[in-house]
Amino acid sequence: MAGIETDILVVGGGPAGSTTATLLAQQGWKVVLCEAETFPREHVGESLLPASIPILLKSGAFAAVEAEGFLPKYGATMVWGSQSEPWSWYFRDASQRYPSSFQVTRSRFDQILLENAQEHNVDVREAHRVLSINLDNDEYVEVRVQPTEKEGLAEVFTLNARFLVDASGQNGLVARQEKLREEDPFFRNLALYGYFSQAARLPEPDSSNIFIESIENGWVWTIPLHTGETSVGVVVDSVVGSKKIRSMGAETYFHELLASASYTADLLVHADLEKGPFVVRDWSYMAKRFSGPNYVLVGDAACFIDPLFSSGVHLALSSAVLAAAYVSTSLDDSELGRASAGVYEQNYRQQYDHFRELARLFYSSNRTAESYYWETRRLTDADQNVPAQLAFVRAVAGQPPHGYERAVLSHGEMPRVFSDAVSSFEKLRKQRAEKFDMTVGNGDISSDLNFDEKNISILLEVIPIIPSNVSLIRKPVLDEGKFIWGSVIETPHRPEGLPVSRLIVRLFDLINGGRNVRDILGEFEKSTDKQQFATVRQQVAFSLRLLYIDGCIDLDFA
Ligand SMILES: Cc1cc2nc3c(=O)[nH]c(=O)nc-3n(C[C@H](O)[C@H](O)[C@H](O)COP(=O)(O)OP(=O)(O)OC[C@H]3O[C@@H](n4cnc5c(N)ncnc54)[C@H](O)[C@@H]3O)c2cc1C
Repeated sequence: MAGIETDILVVGGGPAGSTTATLLAQQGWKVVLCEAETFPREHVGESLLPASIPILLKSGAFAAVEAEGFLPKYGATMVWGSQSEPWSWYFRDASQRYPSSFQVTRSRFDQILLENAQEHNVDVREAHRVLSINLDNDEYVEVRVQPTEKEGLAEVFTLNARFLVDASGQNGLVARQEKLREEDPFFRNLALYGYFSQAARLPEPDSSNIFIESIENGWVWTIPLHTGETSVGVVVDSVVGSKKIRSMGAETYFHELLASASYTADLLVHADLEKGPFVVRDWSYMAKRFSGPNYVLVGDAACFIDPLFSSGVHLALSSAVLAAAYVSTSLDDSELGRASAGVYEQNYRQQYDHFRELARLFYSSNRTAESYYWETRRLTDADQNVPAQLAFVRAVAGQPPHGYERAVLSHGEMPRVFSDAVSSFEKLRKQRAEKFDMTVGNGDISSDLNFDEKNISILLEVIPIIPSNVSLIRKPVLDEGKFIWGSVIETPHRPEGLPVSRLIVRLFDLINGGRNVRDILGEFEKSTDKQQFATVRQQVAFSLRLLYIDGCIDLDFA
C-alpha cells in the first residue's frame, strides 16, 4: 500500500501524545496521530496536579475538562512519615492562582484530550497500532501501521513522516527498539488496583482529596471519582507482590492488603469491588536519551516515576509542551533544533528528578510502619550521597519549599544530612536577603521601580562579583511554542539554566570583579536615553538584589 506523507507522526493518544499533537497542529504543522486502542479506553492514574491547568488552557482542552464535572482535588491526606494519624496539605498553600486540580476518570479525560486534538486538525487514527519504526533515514521516519478494528482484514501500511513523536507510554516503542531504557533500582514496585462502589469519603474539607496510607509492605491510594466510584490501589514491592499473587491470587491478596490499611479499610466497610483488581508493573525508568535527529520521546515513553506524588500526567503534559517546541524548532531550523535537543532533555529530566527525589526522600522517611519494605528504602545519616542531596536541594531550590516539598520536610523523618542541606540552603538565601535589605534597603519588592535614591546611593559603591561556579551562556530558550536563542545563568542548583532578560545579560557582561555599581550604571547610561535611564537604574538595583539572593552574584559591600 502507498505510504502517507506527513510532517509529524505521533504514536499514542494518551495525554502526552494528544497534547504534543495539538500544540504542533496549532502551529500549522500537518500531524497524524496513531493510537492502538479505540477511545474511551481504561487507564490507571486519576489524580492530577494543578500545575497541569495552564497546559490544558494552552492546548484548548481546559473548558471541556472543566465541563465534565470531575471532582476538584484540593490536596492530599496522608498517613505517612512520623505521624500515624492522617494529616492533610493543600495546593492553595503553594499557589493561590491554581489551588485545585481534578480527580479524573482517565477513560473520559484522555478521550477529551484526543477529541481536542482532532478539533485542532490533528488527523487522529484510533485502532491503528504502530508495529515498527525505521529511524535509519535522516530525511524521514518510516513506520509500519496495523489497523486493528477489522483485524485480519485490514492491511498493514507504511507511513512516512519528517518527524516522529513517540508517546506510546510504558510500551516505549523507540526506547525498547533502541535499547534506551534504564530501570531505577530504588522503585521496583507493582500495583494492584480496582474500582469500588459505595466507598465512604474522608470528612470535609478533605472529601475529594487523594488519600494515601502507608502499610507494612507498601502504600494504598484512594481516589474519589465523580462517577461515584472510588479508585483504590496498593503499591507493593514487585518481588514480594509477584510471589503473593502467584500463591494466593490477585484478588485475595488485594483484599488482604486493603484490610491491613486501617483507615482505608474503614472507608471501604460498605464498599463493593466493581472492577479489578488489575495488576500493573510499577518500575520507574528513564531512557538514556530522549531524542534523535528526527524523533523525540515524550511522557512515559521517555521516563516514568513512581505514582506517589500523582505526577505522571503532569510530566506527560509538561514534556508535551517542551517536545512540541523541540519538534517545531527542528523542522524550521535544523541547527537550532540540534541545539534544542539537549535543552528539551535537560528540562524534562529536571522536572522528573524533582519528583523522583521527593518520592525517594518520602519513601525513605516513612516511620509509620516498620518492616523490611520500609527498611530497605531507608536512607541513613551515613548516606553521604552528595548528588542525591544536591538533587533534593535543587528540587526545592529557588523558592521556599511548599506543597509536596513542605510535606516531605515537615512530616517525614529524613536523614539529617538531607534536612541540613535544605535548611542551610534556605538559611543562606534568608541571610543574603537580610544582608542586602539591611545594608541597602529593599525598596518595595512588589515593584521593581521602587528603590529610592538613598538606597541606590549606598549600592553605587558596591562591587558585584560572579562566583566561579556561575556562568552566563547562550542557549535555546522556550519562547511562544518554539526554542529561540537566548541566555541562561547556570548555577550548581540550576544546571539546566535560568533564562534571563537582555538587561541581566548586559549586567553580567559589565560585571568584571573591578567595576562597582556606579561604573556599571555609567555604562548603561551611555546606551540609554535620559528619560529611560531612571527606570533602568531601578531595574539594575532590583536585579542585583535578586541575583545576590539566588547566589548568582556576590556583592562586596566593603
Ligand atoms: C499504578 C499507577 C498509578 C498511577 N497514578 C497516577 C496518578 O494518580 N496521577 C498521575 O498523574 N499519574 C499516575 N500514573 C502515571 C500516569 O498514568 C502516566 O504517567 C500517564 O498516563 C502518562 O501519559 P502518556 O501519554 O505518556 O502515556 P499513556 O497515557 O500510557 O498513553 C500511551 C498511549 O499509547 C498507546 N500506544 C502504546 N503502544 C502503541 C502502539 N504501538 N501504537 C499506537 N499506540 C500505542 C496506548 O494505547 C496509550 O493510549 C500512575 C501510573 C501507575 C502505573
